[in-house]
Amino acid sequence: MISKKMVDYVKGSSLIRAMFEEGKRLASIYGAENVYDFSLGNPNLEPPSTVKEAIVDILNNEPNTMVHGYMSNSGYEDVRETIANSINKKFNTSFTEKNIVMTVGAAGGLNVTFKTLLNPEDEVVVFAPYFGEYRSYAANYDGKLVVVSPNTIDFQPNLDEFKSKITDKTKAVIINSPNNPTGVVYSEETIIKLTNILKEKQKELGTDIYLISDEPYRELVYDNIQVPYLTKYYDNTIVGYSYSKSLSLPGERIGYLVIPNEVSDFENVVSAANVATRILGYVNAPSLFQRVIARCLDDKVNIDFYNKNRELLYSELTSYGYNCIKPEGAFYLFVKSPIENDIEFCNMAKKYNILIVPGTSFACPGYIRIAYCVAYSTIENALPGFKSLIESIK
Ligand code: PLP
Repeated sequence: MISKKMVDYVKGSSLIRAMFEEGKRLASIYGAENVYDFSLGNPNLEPPSTVKEAIVDILNNEPNTMVHGYMSNSGYEDVRETIANSINKKFNTSFTEKNIVMTVGAAGGLNVTFKTLLNPEDEVVVFAPYFGEYRSYAANYDGKLVVVSPNTIDFQPNLDEFKSKITDKTKAVIINSPNNPTGVVYSEETIIKLTNILKEKQKELGTDIYLISDEPYRELVYDNIQVPYLTKYYDNTIVGYSYSKSLSLPGERIGYLVIPNEVSDFENVVSAANVATRILGYVNAPSLFQRVIARCLDDKVNIDFYNKNRELLYSELTSYGYNCIKPEGAFYLFVKSPIENDIEFCNMAKKYNILIVPGTSFACPGYIRIAYCVAYSTIENALPGFKSLIESIK
């Protein structure tokens, strides 16, 4: 008999993953080329060639124990130092290797952070729509997710409601920009207002409130839009970065946390993050890929690939009568469901072999998410289905 907690997790298991599995089932019936799977944020884009070159060179030329051995739980010192220097150069910060903890992707980083910070019943504030896995990650450590309702006008966070939801139990706030599922980048104005609220509330309540910036999509932005670096606005910030999307390496499970010196209880937070990495069973982030990414810090996937997809999908869908804002980052289009029930709409889409995810999974019913990290031809071939789908409703 499995644990009671797991019974609930299995029941609530991600609709996104369910759609992904459905895609595989449909592909076995109709052929992969006739199924248009927009369900998962799984990049259909090769990593930059420098990644492969780095793998080969490391395997051929770095000593074996260095490449495959255990190391400090927070990762190789030289890799962390290289990452710290690269962040300093980009954002004019002054981190050292002591501020970097290598993680098993963004998901690993969030779990390490929550294990480090949360006592049972501590509250974690999130802004809907949000990445649904946050629910399980917080629940893993008996944290309570407090959801700020969506601002469906421009999908910037709803700050008045945010202010009213901070209590003496609030331990952390997560923001994710560029955002999954909306593709919105939170403006500097939003960040200033949001961090001012946090500073005020910390003072008023006499508590520490940590701001967790979940940033797997930081590099995926269009039209040169700037994504503010949050440690510059609020001392109590922990940044979670990942190479899953920026280098198209989601299966390799590699990322890092930045824990600045200015964070409350810094020494203990860093020590706890190290121990959390070990006792969660990660022990350390994958050793080969720590060394690989250290050589590829200035590289990223070709954003033009995603931009081309974004332009085609946005212009065509809006011309058919779908309603959505144009994403500024990431690779998702968040579209108003043409019928009220978003889950039913996603089921209707399946009749056209189109797999999309209901906004309900992101605590934003009435919308659907289309992940356009697919081949351009998949979008071209799916467009007639999207058109027929909305026409079937009118
Ligand atoms: N956070 C957000 C907002 C995501 O969209 C994802 C993955 O899609 C993750 C975290 C997990 O990323 P990783 O593969 O780096 O663990």
